[in-house]
Amino acid sequence: MLEKLSNILKKTTDKIANAIFLDKNLVDSIVKDLQRALIEADVNVALVLELTKKIKQAALDGRIKGIEKKEHIIKLLHDELIRILGEKKEIHIQKHNVFLMVGLYGSGKTTTISKLAAYYAKRGNKVCAIGLDVHRPAASEQLKQLCDKLNIKAFIDEEEKDPKKIWKKYESELKDYSLVLVDTAGRDSLDNELIKEMKDIAKLTKPTETLLVMPADIGQTAKMQAEGFKSAVDISGVIITRMDSTAKGGGALTACAEVKAPVIFIGTGEKPADLEPFNPESFLSRLLGMGDLQALMDKVHSVMSEEQIEETQKKLREGRFTMYEFEQQIEAMGSMGSMDKIMSLIPGLGGMKEKIPESAMEQQQAKVKNWKAAIKSMTKREKEDPEILEKQTSRIQRIAKGAGIPTSDVRTLIKQFKIIKEMIKSQSGLAEGKLDQKTMMKFARKFGKKMKF
Ligand code: GDP
Ligand code: MG
Repeated sequence: MLEKLSNILKKTTDKIANAIFLDKNLVDSIVKDLQRALIEADVNVALVLELTKKIKQAALDGRIKGIEKKEHIIKLLHDELIRILGEKKEIHIQKHNVFLMVGLYGSGKTTTISKLAAYYAKRGNKVCAIGLDVHRPAASEQLKQLCDKLNIKAFIDEEEKDPKKIWKKYESELKDYSLVLVDTAGRDSLDNELIKEMKDIAKLTKPTETLLVMPADIGQTAKMQAEGFKSAVDISGVIITRMDSTAKGGGALTACAEVKAPVIFIGTGEKPADLEPFNPESFLSRLLGMGDLQALMDKVHSVMSEEQIEETQKKLREGRFTMYEFEQQIEAMGSMGSMDKIMSLIPGLGGMKEKIPESAMEQQQAKVKNWKAAIKSMTKREKEDPEILEKQTSRIQRIAKGAGIPTSDVRTLIKQFKIIKEMIKSQSGLAEGKLDQKTMMKFARKFGKKMKF
């Protein structure tokens, strides 16, 4: 569900957490990624611009610094995303409940009834369904088949063409159930005929909830549809279906929030179990791949301490980079000291990752383990001035032996170290925002070719 958006959000929070310099270039690239991902998810452009403007302002606000700034931005991003996802609303089950399902053709009303039936029956309610969709010949049969599978009673009448008469026929029996799910007919669009039918049925069935069912793939069009239905009948909540089969779900959800039509459930598949109560907070946590906001904040602290960041910043500004820093960066990334993480630490190099094949990246990760061992076998002098290794083969042999790795690995380590050092040297101006995007691209391309695996 919304994998692409989820990936970008994860990447964005990683970038913020890992950043040594939270400079203008990095902020610009983060904001651009966010904008692209949210707009691709069909979120209203105005909302997206408002959100990213706030992030940019906070990022470039000179009053907050260091780790505090990272925390601030991540919290802001989190809160803004929650805000555009809307408020949580739950249905409170009473003694006798009638849910009236409304929506256009094919929006998922009947399927959702079977899901709601399963959901509420599982929670101890006596549930039944009634088919008032008299427009499509097979509609009541579809409802019955779905309900039969779940051992849920479905009241249908395939001969009757007046939904009101069907309701009247079963009205007394329905009283025995604590939850009655009412299936209705849709139309291609919200026309007068549909409005009249919905009003008539609502008057008769006296629903405790009137739920508008809309498919996620309509994206931000959900705003217009929700507004239309709201002005015709008293909509108490929305169910967004097909969240599993579109990238536009973000647009549908935020559109409902915009018009204050609370999303109560989301459908995430065709099976009865594929229904989830919608909670903006936990929905976002899942997109971010995190437990909660605190977990997200911890990420900022787990990468590097304030002192480490400052020290690295200082050294990099001076263009200094020794095996110590290289090692520190590998260590800071934990056991997954992968090349891409190291690159994401260096402003402006994030984009380079895409230019390196995945297989090479994986190989590289295996190598990093050997590199760590190699660095541990180096003398102080070698760490401070790794260039001396290039001239003296005996040193390389000694290190390889000490680390229990092939000499070729020590050589690649030295090569990588040199490349990264060179990169850092030529981009030390980045910290002051001296390099523009174009220069950075040129730079990334240049080194992209040099990266040998
Ligand atoms: P209705 O005309 O509003 O009653 O819509 P239906 O309940 O008949 O659903 C229309 C189609 O959407 C059916 O093929 C369903 O299987 C499918 N559908 C409904 N909800 C979901 C969902 O959450 N995920 C997926 N992938 N398909 C769904
Ligand atoms: Mg139907």
